[in-house]
Amino acid sequence: MKIPLPYSGGLILSYQCNLSCIHCLYNCRGNWKGWIEIEKVLDILKTLEKIPNFVSLHLTGGEPFINLPLLIEVVKICRNFEIPFFVETNCYWAKDKEKAEEILRRLKQNGLNSIMLSFSIFYVYKVPIKNFENAMEVSLKIFGPENVSFYTLNGYRLVKENNITETLSFEKSVEIIGQEKFVKFLGNYLVPKGKCLYTLERWFCKYSPEKFKGANCIAEFLNPHHIHIDLYGNYIPSFCSGITLGNYKKILEDRMFINDKILDFLTSDIYKFLLWAEGLGYKRKDGYINKCHLCLDIRKFLINKNFKFDSLKPEEFYINL
Ligand code: SF4
Ligand code: SF4
Repeated sequence: MKIPLPYSGGLILSYQCNLSCIHCLYNCRGNWKGWIEIEKVLDILKTLEKIPNFVSLHLTGGEPFINLPLLIEVVKICRNFEIPFFVETNCYWAKDKEKAEEILRRLKQNGLNSIMLSFSIFYVYKVPIKNFENAMEVSLKIFGPENVSFYTLNGYRLVKENNITETLSFEKSVEIIGQEKFVKFLGNYLVPKGKCLYTLERWFCKYSPEKFKGANCIAEFLNPHHIHIDLYGNYIPSFCSGITLGNYKKILEDRMFINDKILDFLTSDIYKFLLWAEGLGYKRKDGYINKCHLCLDIRKFLINKNFKFDSLKPEEFYINL
């Protein structure tokens, strides 16, 4: 099976984040240290530049603005390549408009032309809506409306319409918004993978493991529209987290998965993955939200039992999951 060359993707500068949102795909958090090395950024950009149809790169995390000096250096590198790029942020730094303007102007001067601002009910426990609004106003002024995107405007509107102006716990925010509206929002917003499969478990329907007989992940692994490369060089398919197809350079040159038992199961039949894991002591749950829940729960078990697989990276992802 040959991995197609990607069209677009993200560069994870770090998994460190000032927030630890309960829905975080990558289980990012403050105590996850480590930032990408500049030499690696250069090498990744040189590799991506050779891909004829690679048309969009996003600089992401974690929260890239935590390490502004590094972000500026990365932007300076990116501007020397032909690949259009933007940065994603949770806006925590936009405490007032002056501060926001100072930061965004520095980035603009060094070559940043586009930004994606994230906000939703999940951020409210630490980031007040004002920060998002400051970042929005200043970004529109500095980069122009065509170069500012939001993830998501609906997420912002839901908080705004319910007058949640200060920081507030997630539970209290849901109480104010109401469960019905929250569930409707979740359906359009959430990628049901990663940490949310545990933290938001009660909001989902569950199915017996037999439902996933014959399911596999070939479509996700071969999806060229949304890949990530992290600071460790892991090539991450689709929105999967804690799992890699291999080192980005090998993948983009050889276009082959690494030779790995987990990937063999996931490209054939996820139910066989379950049967195999049960042989190692894994206890199946009564129900799983989706195949990713089944996959993640088994992977978590394997890491906790100290099994080592080349595809199960970065291992820090599994801490406190
Ligand atoms: S702000 Fe984004 S990267 Fe940070 S914890 Fe929340 S979802 Fe994860
Ligand atoms: S089952 Fe696992 S590998 Fe497959 S798409 Fe879901 S998270 Fe990714």
